[in-house]
Amino acid sequence: MSTQDYENDKKWCEKCKRYQRYLMSVDRSYCVDCGSEVRLFSKEDAVAFGRDLEKRRWRGTGS
Ligand SMILES: [Zn+2]
Repeated sequence: MSTQDYENDKKWCEKCKRYQRYLMSVDRSYCVDCGSEVRLFSKEDAVAFGRDLEKRRWRGTGS
């Protein structure tokens, strides 16, 4: 196992303003550092990801 896999095991903490390791609950994840709920992407990344999906969807529907 590489250290890159370890990097992927992080989620965005809004309170710490950075990607942090997290504790997994049933349907939520929590920052190991401050205990706040973490999310998979930061807001900025989520927006970028959404745009990317939108682009792909457009490309996919044109038959
Ligand atoms: Zn945190």
